[in-house]
Amino acid sequence: MISLRNIWVEYGDKIVLERVNLDIAERSFVSIVGPSGAGKSTLLRLLLGQEAPSRGQILLDGVPLKPECGPDRGVVFQRYSVFPHLDARHNVLFGLECAAAPLTGRLFGAARRAALEEADAMLAAVGLGDNGHVFPAQMSGGMQQRLAIAQALVKRPRILLLDEPFGALDPGIRGDMHRLITRLWREQALTIAMVTHDIEEAFALATRVLTLDKRRHDPHAPHRFGATAVYDLVLDRRVKAEI
Ligand code: ATP
Ligand code: MG
Repeated sequence: MISLRNIWVEYGDKIVLERVNLDIAERSFVSIVGPSGAGKSTLLRLLLGQEAPSRGQILLDGVPLKPECGPDRGVVFQRYSVFPHLDARHNVLFGLECAAAPLTGRLFGAARRAALEEADAMLAAVGLGDNGHVFPAQMSGGMQQRLAIAQALVKRPRILLLDEPFGALDPGIRGDMHRLITRLWREQALTIAMVTHDIEEAFALATRVLTLDKRRHDPHAPHRFGATAVYDLVLDRRVKAEI
């Protein structure tokens, strides 16, 4: 369970998130939608540990989240999640080396060979089994995002954070990506938080859709700032499957 307790994010005098309270259950798939500038990416950066809130606490199973990006979390952005100078295999290997050898960022000998085997298995799991030696520049957008997903998941994180991961892709291949992410979510028992501008995608994939919006006026405390509006819709996938 990830818990956000009274979270504020302020940049100078600009308040981006205000009094956000949220519990994200283990193995849920949460879509986050809302207008541009609402603070969706900011929320993901908090969950990633890349940024600390100005006030409030983020707990992972009741323990304060470490500020650095831990091996229990993986992330994929809309673009530029992979390194252009590394081929597919070494991009995925990098994901493992970072987690296994955080100080040096390198593995050697048998450990490296084992890691490369894991990298190859992960590439196969995302449908890039024959592309280990291909560089990102020679890949389609969909292949690059598959590679980014492999790099994020190779260290077996519990939480996968996705910031508009399919936003730059052709609508034709988004369906394939949706099937892939749904399969990985189930197989790897992941908790996923995905920001998207595509409402259909948000509802098709998630077990819960959060809509983030600008501040909401609080009629009980008119002299105080309002809270960030979070509209919360929990979807019953069991019912959905029967329809
Ligand atoms: P989009 O849908 O366009 O990606 P978003 O909901 O992801 O928008 P954020 O990127 O989280 O929005 O930004 C929320 C607000 O915080 C914006 O007004 C942005 O300008 C501001 N902001 C984000 N990061 C910083 C920063 N490091 N310094 C100052 N302001 C920032
Ligand atoms: Mg954003």
